[in-house]
Amino acid sequence: MNLARQASEIQVSEAERKKKSQNRSAKINYNAVMEKLIAGLEGKKASLLLHACCGPCSTACLEKISLFFEISVYFYNPNIYPFEEYEKRRDEIFKFVEKLNFATGREIRILEGGYDKDDYDRAIRIEECPELAFEAERGERCRRCYEFRMKKAFEYAAENNFDFFATTLTLSPYKDSDKVNEIGRLLDEQAVKNGLELRYLYSDFKKKNGYLRSIEISKEYGVYRQDYCGCVYSLSSNAAGIVAERPQRL
Ligand code: SF4
Repeated sequence: MNLARQASEIQVSEAERKKKSQNRSAKINYNAVMEKLIAGLEGKKASLLLHACCGPCSTACLEKISLFFEISVYFYNPNIYPFEEYEKRRDEIFKFVEKLNFATGREIRILEGGYDKDDYDRAIRIEECPELAFEAERGERCRRCYEFRMKKAFEYAAENNFDFFATTLTLSPYKDSDKVNEIGRLLDEQAVKNGLELRYLYSDFKKKNGYLRSIEISKEYGVYRQDYCGCVYSLSSNAAGIVAERPQRL
């Protein structure tokens, strides 16, 4: 059986999804879902496109899964403002992957998805909803931003016959992993409808000290850690002291 197809039988069960749709506060342990899937691969390596938002978030995600998949990291983040900051984060992640490969003997590939700031503005539809500019992180603006970047990664993975796609966006406690995984689920459904073998790998990389581990590895490898999420709105919120009310628990 194809690895990704085999995996789809292990992923989030209908019962778990039903429980969650009836009780929105019910939590699915997406890290456990991922670990179960990895165990189900029984050592066979599937290809995986990992959408990466930045170097620091990639560190712990790669530590966690790079032994189990043939990974291509996909840096696609036209949300980042200004362009000089985009270049800085891009260069950092390329350097980090190169150093990691050198230190561990792994063969992780890294790709850049391109930058057009207008694509981001269109994706979050800021002209129709100008109030989104003032939201704290983890609201609707961020949901649209996750969707925009994950959709592009999904399309790239589909065109290039990957078995799985995933994202580092579940590493940060300032991002809403439930929203990220729900977007992944809908893209996964779309893949099934289109007859693709591609599957979404659910995750919650912050679990089991993932976020703290990202800080440690970033220090170890000298990876630059930015102090705002990325878009122009997060840059100005940071300056104004507007923060998400409830970062996710580690
Ligand atoms: S705060 Fe971060 S996730 Fe939210 S819209 Fe801005 S760049 Fe995207």
